[in-house]
Amino acid sequence: MTTGEMLTRLPNVQPDLDELQRVIGRELPGKMFARRVDGEQAPFLPYTPPHWECVCTACGKQFAANRKDKLKDMTVCPECGAKVEPHRWTNRQGGKQTGAFLFYHLFRGAGREIWVRSWRVSQWLNFDGLEIAYEPVSIYYFDDGTAEKWKRGWWGWERLKTIQLDRWKPNTYSCACYPAFVGAISKKTIEGSCLEYSQLDRAMLQGFPVIEYIGFYLKNPSVEYLWKSHCIPLLEDYFLGHKGDVRRAVNLKAKTFKGLFRGADKQEMKIIPQLRAQEIVWFHRLYQAGVIRADQDGVDWARARRSFYHDIPGGDEKRLYRYIHRQAERCERSCANTLQDYSDYLDQIHRLGGGELWPHDLDEAHRRLSAREREMQDRGLNGMFRARRRLWQWAVWRHSGMLIRPVDSVNEITLEGERQNNCVAGYARRHAEGQTVIFVLRRADAPTQSWYTVELDPKTLTVRQCRGYQNESASVRVMFFADAWMQRLKNIRDQRRKSA
Ligand SMILES: [Zn+2]
Repeated sequence: MTTGEMLTRLPNVQPDLDELQRVIGRELPGKMFARRVDGEQAPFLPYTPPHWECVCTACGKQFAANRKDKLKDMTVCPECGAKVEPHRWTNRQGGKQTGAFLFYHLFRGAGREIWVRSWRVSQWLNFDGLEIAYEPVSIYYFDDGTAEKWKRGWWGWERLKTIQLDRWKPNTYSCACYPAFVGAISKKTIEGSCLEYSQLDRAMLQGFPVIEYIGFYLKNPSVEYLWKSHCIPLLEDYFLGHKGDVRRAVNLKAKTFKGLFRGADKQEMKIIPQLRAQEIVWFHRLYQAGVIRADQDGVDWARARRSFYHDIPGGDEKRLYRYIHRQAERCERSCANTLQDYSDYLDQIHRLGGGELWPHDLDEAHRRLSAREREMQDRGLNGMFRARRRLWQWAVWRHSGMLIRPVDSVNEITLEGERQNNCVAGYARRHAEGQTVIFVLRRADAPTQSWYTVELDPKTLTVRQCRGYQNESASVRVMFFADAWMQRLKNIRDQRRKSA
């Protein structure tokens, strides 16, 4: 339809101002504006005593209130009973905007046509009171199998390809949008129209966007069957934006209910309504392959299987199903959790470069590989620990019955942390990478027993921390030792620099 044709066929209607006021009262936060009137009367007018002159945005009414009332206490409108926020009514040039939104309304056209018009609606507070203004935004034309849209630009109406709800931003830089509301849709409008079987009322209750829904329905009338068979999660998926998944799960071009889910049998059709689009695809594939039955276990498995991204060893779906069920029973966990564990386990095998693909006891095998991986990580750090040890050999010092040396290995730092009940183990990586150096200070007569843990700043050669059991601080004797040791380290370094 050309824009000219559209304008001649468009039902000549404007929004109903009473309906707009009702929408404002129902959907937007109410405000009350009040100003003092001091009773100084104009000549020839009867004297009015001093009072508040009020307007309520929720009902749009104007009324007087007792002069003695305080503005901040006027929180309920005496005319409509709405909760309102009190404000002072000041006179502003051009008025003050008190509310704004996009408003959509459905109208019946000729034959089976449905027209939808949308307006930007705003409520203004002027010197004389409240006023509602509106300007057209878009026009939609719907008929069987057809959806068209025009949008208002400064040059006039323009035809658009995408049929969707408009957004109205307060300004071009803003991410916020004014809300959109749809006016009352009467049975009379829908009856005998192209939307007669659209289940539009249910779609609205479900919170689907009205324009997109109508466009979707007119292109795919089979949607009616989806409602009738309660496939609500599938419809939700569509309007959540998973359109591709929905098209894979259901044949929207179907002419009959049976045609929606190609190849599905009676048992399957009973299960499908509770599933989301991706789940339907998986359920159908697994059920048809004879892996699962059409029951709750089958549903659970289809849901879990969907997020298992590995290739199944040997490609045997049935074996995976049986294996995970057996393992789940063994360790009394859900199949979904067990499948997740198996996925982690296969990752480990991949990282370690091989291993048992179907271990007899998955839980045990998973724990074993985790320990081995940790060990390998430690081994990597241990190599770095050895390098640190060689680098700091010069700092080893035996003096006045004490011995200080760099920590030996990951194992030792872990053990030191456990024995001393401190958090030194957390320093393993920083020590390995040379950002800090961890030393152990021992009594010369008990060199294998933990005593103090010392952290040295490798740049300044100062002791950052010197902690005993349970982070207890150093005794005077140990502090003297540490001071002497730092002095010694600095001397050695200075000599090295001179000779270098
Ligand atoms: Zn009111």
